[in-house]
Amino acid sequence: MKDLKRTKIKELLDAPVIGKKVNVKGWVRTFRNNQFIAINDGSTINNIQGVVDFENTDEKLLKRITTGACISVTGDLAESKGKGQSVEIIVENIEILGDADPEKFPLQPKKHSLEFLREIAHLRVRTNTFSAIYRIRHAMIFAVHKFFTDRGFYNVHTPIITGSDAEGAGEMFRVTTLDPANPAKDEDGNINYKEDFFGKETNLTVSGQLEGETACMGLSEIYTFGPTFRAENSNTSRHLAEFWMIEPEMAFYDINDNMDLAEAFVKYLVNYALDNCSDDLAFLNQRALDDEKTKPQQERSELSLLERLKFVAENDFERVTYTEAIDILRNSKPNKKKKFQYLIEGWGADLQSEHERFLVEKHFKKPVILYNYPKDIKAFYMRQNDDGKTVAAMDVLFPGIGEIIGGSQREERYGILKQRIDEIGIPEKDLWWYLELRKFGSAPHSGFGLGFERMIQFVTGMTNIRDVIPFPRTPDNAEF
Ligand code: ATP
Ligand code: MN
Repeated sequence: MKDLKRTKIKELLDAPVIGKKVNVKGWVRTFRNNQFIAINDGSTINNIQGVVDFENTDEKLLKRITTGACISVTGDLAESKGKGQSVEIIVENIEILGDADPEKFPLQPKKHSLEFLREIAHLRVRTNTFSAIYRIRHAMIFAVHKFFTDRGFYNVHTPIITGSDAEGAGEMFRVTTLDPANPAKDEDGNINYKEDFFGKETNLTVSGQLEGETACMGLSEIYTFGPTFRAENSNTSRHLAEFWMIEPEMAFYDINDNMDLAEAFVKYLVNYALDNCSDDLAFLNQRALDDEKTKPQQERSELSLLERLKFVAENDFERVTYTEAIDILRNSKPNKKKKFQYLIEGWGADLQSEHERFLVEKHFKKPVILYNYPKDIKAFYMRQNDDGKTVAAMDVLFPGIGEIIGGSQREERYGILKQRIDEIGIPEKDLWWYLELRKFGSAPHSGFGLGFERMIQFVTGMTNIRDVIPFPRTPDNAEF
């Protein structure tokens, strides 16, 4: 009997064969009345119930069936008489694979706060909420690759350790093997990076874009999907020090093609989740509804999680220029009543997340793509528009999240790019290879970056980004 091959709980529930002898292995969620074990193996949000003949089972064994214990159960599959499940296993044999001392195991069958669960991130995958998030995260990884593969894009690995400090998207983490207590120094007493591992200063990447652009200049359409690091000291619910970013880069796309692709991409991901993660989404939807009930009326969201997902999948995003957005914001109630922390005085102001959220959540009530930003608040590589003031940048803004995508048409004209680099004061030696792309066979091209965890936040409805990555890295926190 012990040799019976294990069946995953999902398989048993999807296609049950009544009367068949089966073996499942998993973790005990609850054990009721010395009789009913709810077992979960992570293959689905649903548990299978094992029914124990307690009168004929060793009492010592029964005592070891506790929440969190890992067990192997063998028995016949039968139609269930109880509510809540259609089939159950009539247990013939139980083996305890791993005990979980109920006095010490921190997860008990009750609602734990997300803050508490973050402190036990090594165990939180054993809750319904986190196993659902992990499964959806996997489905989204797969959907990203499928979306681009189906469109003829190639996945490219760009370096994680970068020698270019012109990526310009935030503070970087240094990578070094120099002895911090006694680093090599040059004649002027400065740290001598010539003595360092790579013979120069290196950092963890903040974006694969610049290297991604090199690949699109030969493969036409590429995307990267890799770890990204930013040493921003911002303790928000939307920033991680280590996160994953998807960066497509396309030759022959202008800013409009870029916006079309970005919109199609996020809609595809949302639809993929709706089609393939319905059990997990139904669970998270209910979880969010229960949560809402504890909040005052005015703080509750108008739409449920599932309604929000369907809304995004079915409606066109609003495309608005930066200039139009500034007009809307300047004349908005919170600006006039000085409710914004940063008041919008005029054209040229950088938009804060309070402004982005006003546009998305209050004014348009749908996802918004803002484009054509002032060149002075955007990166050097964005294509200058003919007005001389703006660049062909675009940000996709989502309800509850703010910026989920940032992108642009890239400056493909050598002279204009070189001039901008000089204006900003980036040494040419840092970007010689990037400039060469514009010297040899340059082409109009565009791209964007989607923050993967922000997308997972939207799809799962989790309000804190620390809850959508297994082990979050944030200021003062690198446990596990
Ligand atoms: P923000 O203004 O929200 O800090 P950003 O403008 O610095 O973002 P980009 O450099 O445009 O971001 O990066 C592209 C995308 O990467 C963003 O739209 C966002 O989805 C994601 N992203 C950026 N920084 C972080 C971070 N620290 N943690 C998680 N995701 C991030
Ligand atoms: Mn951005």
